[in-house]
Amino acid sequence: MSDDIDLAQSHEEMHRAHALAALERQRERQTGLPECRDCGEDISVLRQALGATLCIDCQTATEARAAQMVCRGRM
Ligand SMILES: [Zn+2]
Repeated sequence: MSDDIDLAQSHEEMHRAHALAALERQRERQTGLPECRDCGEDISVLRQALGATLCIDCQTATEARAAQMVCRGRM
């Protein structure tokens, strides 16, 4: 009986390790850059974790330009 439980537990641990490894790989793909690809400014660790490749200033400027283009396109 206890052997079955041990087996089930080791199975579960194996599955968990696989799931964690998959999550880790996914996280690596989503990781952004340590420095802004436009101006080279440092990007905060939190924004890097969210996959940011631009600093806040460049991101804001890029979004403002995109918004302007959308507005112009409608007129
Ligand atoms: Zn920048």
